Amino acid sequence: MDNNRLRSAAILVLGLLIVVGGCFGGFLLYNRLTSEDVPLVQEVDSDEIIPIVKTDAEWKAILTPEQYYVTREHGTERPHINQYNKTMTKGVYRCACCELPLFDSEHKFISKSGWPSFYQPIDKKNVGFKTDRSWSQEVRTEVHCKRCKGHLGHVFDDGPDPTGLRYCINSVSINLVPALQKSDAANSGAGNSSSGGKK
Ligand SMILES: [Zn+2]
Repeated sequence: MDNNRLRSAAILVLGLLIVVGGCFGGFLLYNRLTSEDVPLVQEVDSDEIIPIVKTDAEWKAILTPEQYYVTREHGTERPHINQYNKTMTKGVYRCACCELPLFDSEHKFISKSGWPSFYQPIDKKNVGFKTDRSWSQEVRTEVHCKRCKGHLGHVFDDGPDPTGLRYCINSVSINLVPALQKSDAANSGAGNSSSGGKK
């Protein structure tokens, strides 16, 4: 009788272990399938983008220490007090490292994140994406300049219409080249005043 009870209890425990183990295994499998190395946004390849490759010493020579830390060492600047967080000046944001046009003020919006936010890049082929697991709490999609691989920030799926995406970008990774006013264009002959490198 006692043996039968013991056997029943053992079978019950074994059954429970199988159910719990199955659920946990399923959860792990689901997690693997949903967060495997698939960035949130798919990259567009283009022959137009010729990579720029420099040594660390060469980047250090043309960037400020903060620009180098964020763009070349995947750093993050402080939120809210950075240069372009609330800027709504019309113009094009170029890569701070290589001056490739990356974002347009037309696509910028004010988010609560504390960093400049855009719902799309100026051209999808100008940015690259990579799965970022450096933060243990969340698998994120890192965004970088397609030409020089400079780190820009991350893209999240909580942005506004029409894309539903939020490109959360470090101010020091980009330089705003303001759009010329009509009077400026008439005076200067529409010269290009790009401002890359050190600020
Ligand atoms: Zn670049």
